[in-house]
Amino acid sequence: MGNIIDGKALSQAVKDEVRDEVPQLEAKYGRKPCLVVIIVGENPASQVYVRNKVKAAAYTGMGSELIELPADISEEALLAKIRQLNEDPAVDGILVQLPLPKHIDEEKVIDTIAREKDVDGFHPGNVANLWLGKDCIVPCTPAGVMRMLDTIGVELKGKNAVVVGRSNIVGKPMAKLLLDRHATVTIAHSRTADLGAVCRTADVLVVAVGKAGLVTGDMVKPGAVVIDVGMNRNAEGKLCGDVDYASASQVASWITPVPGGVGPMTIAMLMKNTIHCFVSRMEKKA
Ligand code: NDP
Repeated sequence: MGNIIDGKALSQAVKDEVRDEVPQLEAKYGRKPCLVVIIVGENPASQVYVRNKVKAAAYTGMGSELIELPADISEEALLAKIRQLNEDPAVDGILVQLPLPKHIDEEKVIDTIAREKDVDGFHPGNVANLWLGKDCIVPCTPAGVMRMLDTIGVELKGKNAVVVGRSNIVGKPMAKLLLDRHATVTIAHSRTADLGAVCRTADVLVVAVGKAGLVTGDMVKPGAVVIDVGMNRNAEGKLCGDVDYASASQVASWITPVPGGVGPMTIAMLMKNTIHCFVSRMEKKA
């Protein structure tokens, strides 16, 4: 039976680190970091996410603001709001909760957020810097996964890592972070032939697809570390991952549960990213 990587406990530790850091930053720079979260419309899942993000910011003692905009706001009005926040010297991090209503172009929104305030790490400038190995904001979910791997002390150098899923927000940055640690990385996706065979090569298997139970125990190499990023609702409406936990946990050495795995880490790393943005801006000013 694999050991459980407790994302809830680890995310608490990360938030506590930030909470310790905030007064020191305030003493050094004369004010606290401030995160602004924008939600457009009333998507219930998004509302839960943004509430948790603002709650986490409050816990750490940093400043935060939740801006709730109506679902029928025009794209231009949203972009104008973002530009105003870009110019506001008291704002360090701007997060626009995705998905957005269909009439708003998400790419335009991401491009409009100032690179240095892009706490999600989705801006093209941050993506480019990640792939070039330069200073950047790393997207929260893959950053959280790396923190989990570091906490259990897994050596990545020379190991086979398989990332299932190639989205811009999880799969691709995840693969790059594993590559940076000298893992041999394979990215699998919907057109991968024989997903099971590919997954069985993995010493570290990260699954970010959005399909409940896609990866079963017979697809896991004995002793592998299994990270389940997926967040799905099963037939009973219960939150579950992409990995069939019951079978995979029999084979893995370490495994993340859902809920209580990667999800809380994403929010904790958002706090870290806000600090990163704050310090970078403050140091530039000095
Ligand atoms: P996307 O829908 O953007 O990407 C899904 C990826 O999975 C695509 O690359 C797709 O391949 C691939 N895929 C789809 N079907 C299969 C299949 N049968 N076999 C192999 N690969 C497949 O999703 P996201 O990356 O945004 O999110 C993935 C999951 O992670 C979701 O459940 C989401 O809710 C969750 N998530 C969780 C977070 C957390 O904090 N825990 C944060 C962000 C996401 P292709 O490119 O070929 O279409």
